[in-house]
Amino acid sequence: MKKQLFIDGGWVAADGYRPLFSPYSGEQIAEIAVAGAAEVDRAIQAADQARPVMARLPAHERATILERLSALIREKSDEAARLIALEAAKPLKTARLEVERTVMTYKFSAEEARRIHGETIPMDAAPGGEDRVAYTLRQPLGVVAAITPFNFPMNLVAHKVGPAIAAGNTVVLKPAGQTPLSALFLAELLKQAGLPDGALNVVTGSGSVIGDRLVTDDRVKAVTFTGSPEIGAAIRNKAGLKKVTLELGSNSALIIDQGVDVDSMASRAVTGAFSYSGQVCISIQRIYVHERLYDEFVMKFAAHAETLKIGDPLSAETDVSALISSGDADRTMQWIGEAVKRGASVAAGNRREGNIVYPTVLLNVDPLCSVSCREAFAPVVMINRVGSMEEGVREVNRSRYGLQAGIYTENIRTALAAAEALEVGGVMINDIPTFRVDHMPYGGVKESGVGREGVKYAVEHMTEMKLVCFKK
Ligand code: NAP
Repeated sequence: MKKQLFIDGGWVAADGYRPLFSPYSGEQIAEIAVAGAAEVDRAIQAADQARPVMARLPAHERATILERLSALIREKSDEAARLIALEAAKPLKTARLEVERTVMTYKFSAEEARRIHGETIPMDAAPGGEDRVAYTLRQPLGVVAAITPFNFPMNLVAHKVGPAIAAGNTVVLKPAGQTPLSALFLAELLKQAGLPDGALNVVTGSGSVIGDRLVTDDRVKAVTFTGSPEIGAAIRNKAGLKKVTLELGSNSALIIDQGVDVDSMASRAVTGAFSYSGQVCISIQRIYVHERLYDEFVMKFAAHAETLKIGDPLSAETDVSALISSGDADRTMQWIGEAVKRGASVAAGNRREGNIVYPTVLLNVDPLCSVSCREAFAPVVMINRVGSMEEGVREVNRSRYGLQAGIYTENIRTALAAAEALEVGGVMINDIPTFRVDHMPYGGVKESGVGREGVKYAVEHMTEMKLVCFKK
């Protein structure tokens, strides 16, 4: 399977191609075009030329295209889930959930396209403002560059492409090197759905070559990036006055108060820690448990973790499969080793086969260890004891990241206090930090990012407000 670039509504050959391998089996699954500077330029030019076409497209037509796209993905959901499983080693079960969410994200985008509006301004509220009628418009920005990570190759692309089209923009999309197939699949479906040529262009190849050109080209008006904090920070430094949204990493935490029913939440916490091998930006990496419940929670959590089925992502039963690369598996095992050396004990896992790292549970981890203070992005969770919820909140806030946090408590005062004190973009009360539905505002503070996604919020970011003022 040889995959070309998608530019100006058609497939375009590149000078070079590189093999794409399955992270699980190591087999070659495709050959992917490597875009050079000339192809990136062509993609930006196509997006720039399609700007007026998209800006003129009425809201109902943009909505209809997105509705059709959503329906097409639903029709092809088996194929879509298999693609994700193949290129990302995401177990089919989890890949199917991603496809369902992608269908919803485009549905929300279709709905949002119909309600992009401004407001009227009471100009006479200020002396000198009398005898005026004023209102605001929200207008498309033009060309949006979307740069996406490997871990949700369909839905995180949807979180950028959906709102961009809803708002009447055009897009140049650079998907992650390991997961281009889902993005190219989308390009085909959007064409079938009736998107004008040039409104979506997909360029595959080197992240730094394509990324640098997209981020520094004057025709690109906004950059929306999801990925690691290091690359996010570099993009912001290069982007000049462009609008920039950054959805970055985290070491998300869960706090468990005394008095909660451990049986009902231990298995949910296991899902939050080990879904897609922990390669989820809001995966549970740190758990702080009240000392009264600590032993019971650890026992039940580790027992659930041991029941997860390990294996081939394409098998319907698998819960946990390979990490995205052997380098990530090496790093994870090193981090586990470091924690053990510094006094942590192992309640489950600490084993590797090929690129699969078994779900690993570490207890009493020194907060300065990498598994605590850096982003693991791997199936490793630490569980530490705290004497109070305040101590739990302090531990959560010691992080340089702040995406989402969860707290289980039966005490409304504790819940309200934690909701205020936690330094994160979203607080889940009586749920895991890994909870997300696609229309809620989503994004981080500190090194977890800048700006919010969730379709409506991304549309705000991808439009410019204009004031129109009539003197009567
Ligand atoms: P990554 O290595 O930062 O890559 C993300 C994207 O950036 C890829 O498309 C990559 O291309 C591209 N890229 C590489 N170098 C670049 C450069 N110099 N300029 C511009 N773009 C460049 O991240 P990842 O490993 O794919 O994903 C994991 C990270 O994403 C984790 O940190 C995770 O927490 C974060 N994440 C955050 C959220 C959120 O919503 N907050 C959601 C999911 C994931 P190549 O792949 O070709 O190098």
